[in-house]
Amino acid sequence: MSSNVSQSYPYSSETEEQRAAAVAKALVDFEGLADRVAAESTPLGDAHAAANGAPASWWIWVCPKGDFSGRLHVAGFARERHALYTVCDTCGATFLR
Ligand SMILES: [Zn+2]
Repeated sequence: MSSNVSQSYPYSSETEEQRAAAVAKALVDFEGLADRVAAESTPLGDAHAAANGAPASWWIWVCPKGDFSGRLHVAGFARERHALYTVCDTCGATFLR
């Protein structure tokens, strides 16, 4: 299997509100990241909104770079693969999950 879609397990989860805030902060913190996300992913939209009104929740993964202190937050759907497009809140790297 040749793929950069990691099989690693999620570290935790967060609400839509927390996810949106983390991604928004990363896009401000890392120059060029917003353009990269826009070019390589499509917006999440309402795809995961719960029908029963419960808050949507999203997985968080540990960033494999550096000292593993970064957390990967879902920023969109990858354009080229059936995968989630994530951004690291600590180093600004992007990964497919
Ligand atoms: Zn990172």
